[in-house]
Amino acid sequence: MSCRCSEFQKTTSELQLLNKSILDIVTKLAEQTSMLNRAVFKSATHCGCIEIHGTKQIFSPHKSLEENQQELDTHIEGELCPKCRDKIIEEMGELLFYLASMCEALDISLENVLTEKHNHLKTLGLYNLL
Ligand SMILES: [Zn+2]
Repeated sequence: MSCRCSEFQKTTSELQLLNKSILDIVTKLAEQTSMLNRAVFKSATHCGCIEIHGTKQIFSPHKSLEENQQELDTHIEGELCPKCRDKIIEEMGELLFYLASMCEALDISLENVLTEKHNHLKTLGLYNLL
């Protein structure tokens, strides 16, 4: 069952109980970011389904942005196993819950945030990221 951002934000707001304060939401959002990062790294360090090999990204001034983009590396080797994938999806969902909670507390539409960012990305393309 898929849902729209506005429905997700509405459900989130209906379930606000312990974390209604913006102070709690901000700290939970930061904590949840760490939980998500930990789930990604544990896929490499505990499970081993992926390996992370950090190396310098080579960006050539003599190539186009598109050509450089093709040659950049994720530094990930292998694929997530179903267990790690489920855990990361769960942590991403928690992160979205706190982001939607922040939107609700500040009277901002999560759907508008996504739409504006999407339009911005489509307009500027790769140049948005420089
Ligand atoms: Zn795994």
